[in-house]
Amino acid sequence: MAINQDDMLEFHWLMDMLETVEVGLIVLDAEFRVHVWNGFMENHSGVTASRIKDQNLFDFFPDLPEPWLRRKVKSVRMLKTRAFTTWEQRPYLFHFRNTRPITGTAPYMYQNLTISPLTSADGEVRMVCLMVYNVTDMAGGKLALEQANEQLLRLSETDRLTGLLNRGTWESLLQADYERCRRYGNDSVLVMFDIDHFKSVNDTYGHVAGDEVIRRTSDVLRSNLRHADLAGRYGGEEFAIVLPETTVDGAVALCERIRQTIESSPVDTGTARIRYTISLGVAPITDDTETPTQWIERADAALYEAKEGGRNQTCVTDVPSRAE
Ligand code: GH3
Ligand code: MG
Ligand code: MG
Repeated sequence: MAINQDDMLEFHWLMDMLETVEVGLIVLDAEFRVHVWNGFMENHSGVTASRIKDQNLFDFFPDLPEPWLRRKVKSVRMLKTRAFTTWEQRPYLFHFRNTRPITGTAPYMYQNLTISPLTSADGEVRMVCLMVYNVTDMAGGKLALEQANEQLLRLSETDRLTGLLNRGTWESLLQADYERCRRYGNDSVLVMFDIDHFKSVNDTYGHVAGDEVIRRTSDVLRSNLRHADLAGRYGGEEFAIVLPETTVDGAVALCERIRQTIESSPVDTGTARIRYTISLGVAPITDDTETPTQWIERADAALYEAKEGGRNQTCVTDVPSRAE
């Protein structure tokens, strides 16, 4: 077959395009020997085409996931169809440095990979082509978005001042715990507590110092809880805790520990040393607790009793415990 001048020119252009295209192109035979290694691969790997030509790919890149790549290439050869892998399945095939300035925070180049069978005129697949796409910008954007969403979710669920669950989040978790206990007959205890004479803390030391007292209270609370306990800021200086799988005695012991810690460790604001106390109400879930709201009301009633009884104390609802 005669090749004319136009064909030669076209071939030249095509080769030029393959050399300079911003996609890694590699052609491999059945033994994984390299037949084509374009400019993109040269630039990012530092290995020139003349050095790697006819050499085994895995000899040059021992870090490649060899069994995985062999399996992929084998199925492309057998099925004579393309295979794709995205950065989300496997962040990269070749460990290349990230050279994009915008996404300079990504530690390496994220890559999508396509493996195509190259069919000869006789219908046989002797070679396969690997196409390596640099998708660092896209991946970086998506990861940043996911991180921002996670942060937003966390912010929307928690209270700014204390980092505890905010009221809305806490109430929906209370509802879930209530339903779980009703269905399976599990124990759970609800605690509501409130800082004593907090108005006078604000009046005497100012609002900023008042905020510091609220924050310190939440720190003491947090350091006394188990992983499964749910602590929320219910209102200004009111806190609420759900203690799943806890007996009344266990809950009272916890409340007393928190109360005593707060009573015995004043808050230093720099200008003042503020001593303060809290009052706590405890309500275990019972067979006649009809709604989550009623459960809260009972804990609130116990809290009221603690206030009436002179503050700085823990009171328990007097409703009968659950039938055994
Ligand atoms: P009691 O012992 O009966 O609880 O007396 P109290 O003074 O603490 O009374 P109450 O619980 O009704 O007072 C709540 C006060 O808390 C009123 C409000 O000004 C203040 N407060 C509510 N939220 C905040 C806040 O976020 N920061 C500060 N500094 N104060 C708050
Ligand atoms: Mg109060
Ligand atoms: Mg209050």
